[in-house]
Amino acid sequence: MKGNMTKIGLTTNMLISHAEKNHGQTEVLSVDVKGDVEKSTWQKVGERARKIASALDKLGLKKGDRLGTISPNNKEHLELLYAISGFGGIAHTINPRLFPDEIVYIVNHAEDKVLFVDSSYIAILIGHRHLFETVEHIYLMGPKKDEFAANMNGFKFLNDLTDDGDKNYNWPELNENDAAVLCYTSGTTGNPKGVLYSHKSIVVHANLVSLPDNFNLSARDSLLLVTPMFHVNAWGVTYASAMVGSKLVLPGPNLDGKSVVSLINNENITMSFAIPTIWEEVLEQLDKTGEKLESLDRILSGGTAVPEWMIRQFKNDYSVHVIHAWGMTETSPLGTANTPLGAHANLPKKQKIEKMYNAGRPNWSVQIKIVDREGIELPRDGESEGDLLVKGPTVIERYLHDKQSSLDNDGWFKTGDIGKIDSEGYLEITDRSKDLIKSGGEWISSLELEEIVRGHDKIHDAAVIGVDHKKWNERPLVIAEAVKGTNPKEKEILDFFKNKIAKWQIPDAVVFVDELPLSSTGKPIKRDLRFEFKNYFEEKKNG
Ligand code: ADP
Repeated sequence: MKGNMTKIGLTTNMLISHAEKNHGQTEVLSVDVKGDVEKSTWQKVGERARKIASALDKLGLKKGDRLGTISPNNKEHLELLYAISGFGGIAHTINPRLFPDEIVYIVNHAEDKVLFVDSSYIAILIGHRHLFETVEHIYLMGPKKDEFAANMNGFKFLNDLTDDGDKNYNWPELNENDAAVLCYTSGTTGNPKGVLYSHKSIVVHANLVSLPDNFNLSARDSLLLVTPMFHVNAWGVTYASAMVGSKLVLPGPNLDGKSVVSLINNENITMSFAIPTIWEEVLEQLDKTGEKLESLDRILSGGTAVPEWMIRQFKNDYSVHVIHAWGMTETSPLGTANTPLGAHANLPKKQKIEKMYNAGRPNWSVQIKIVDREGIELPRDGESEGDLLVKGPTVIERYLHDKQSSLDNDGWFKTGDIGKIDSEGYLEITDRSKDLIKSGGEWISSLELEEIVRGHDKIHDAAVIGVDHKKWNERPLVIAEAVKGTNPKEKEILDFFKNKIAKWQIPDAVVFVDELPLSSTGKPIKRDLRFEFKNYFEEKKNG
């Protein structure tokens, strides 16, 4: 027998509608490239989102159409995301830091019909637009300027589209299981893969991140959203902020320590979200100027391991609580967050801080387990180490256009991370089995780098590993075996990567060895290399 409650589904337009009506006067601020702050409110954001949605309807776009965005975090981007999924389309948020060829690939793979592009990324468009196979309209975001040049190139302006819209437009009723947002993530081999979120998974996720034991969000908060919206909906906060009706500050393209500190202090920010690389710059800035962070209560740091010294420094010097979280694009993203249990209340301060180091415990919608090589579950004893598997309603089932499920027979998803779980359920990430390196929150494929370097005449074999780096968390290091009788120099090997991959993906250094350690299948044993070269950059820096 089915329940007798209303059949109204959980959809993203419900969130913006709520914020518009019930938190209408709460501020949404947007910072432009010059650092100027534009003030808006949830009421105005909601109204503009409805206007854009009605204009998209008028353009003839249909439910399920994919509409891409290439933009930093700003008010227009927020309005667009709500407009697109609100009328039934799918908002495809694109990472502008990808190599242009990758952007072309994902736009074509997603079959985007429209692209909305912040004017600062126009270079990507000019050089590559002829390669987009399905794009029918390109709209420039930001103030209308250089109209003649834009028209010559066939670009239109989002501002005109918005002005054409109907402010009395009502959100349609949508099916909660329909897709709302599309994000791509790096594949270990080959091309990026699309993760297609449903309205329901987004709303459920927004609800759970708002819980006190996760991000503890409320209408009393003032949130600074440094994590880009193209990184899994800014870790879900694009939607959670409207759900709880918090003040929202969207920092635009300038994410350096100085800009972030001044926004925190000028806008009375209570919580902010960013990767450790940004928090490191914030601490450097504070150290330089002696400024404090009076209003800031907590920050969320994730995307990669958060160093322990950073957690201590924020707590001891600035009374800011760092919430260390683990997640991935495939898990919406929140999997675990480190917040204390009741049983920790009376622990001494030092022990309380030590408890904050690991990646935390799972939220209600995610089950986690670690398994050995045969797939047998390992004990939660804080010592056994194994492959991390996850399961739950906010976890992916299959990638876009894939026929095959990505889950095992029991519905578990293999994360490619390795970890330990302790008796209280806290997860510690200890290693990564997937061949990816994460530099400043962005992925670099070690396999791709290996393929390039092995193509060099003087290289016999090579492995590329991620090595700890203070600023970028990890940077690629090439461990190479030269062809006998040749004597390649580090510079010529590094130069060989130029124009084959994005500049920031080029490895930092090459170490030549006589012989690489090989497994029984003839592949370099990267785990051993990661262990041996763990402190390479740190030691090099210290001479
Ligand atoms: P996001 O960057 O939003 O977390 P991605 O899908 O790009 O999402 O990256 C997910 C991967 O990042 C994880 O599988 C893991 O390898 C790494 N990662 C995320 N959080 C942590 C963490 N707290 N500690 C260690 N690695 C992490």
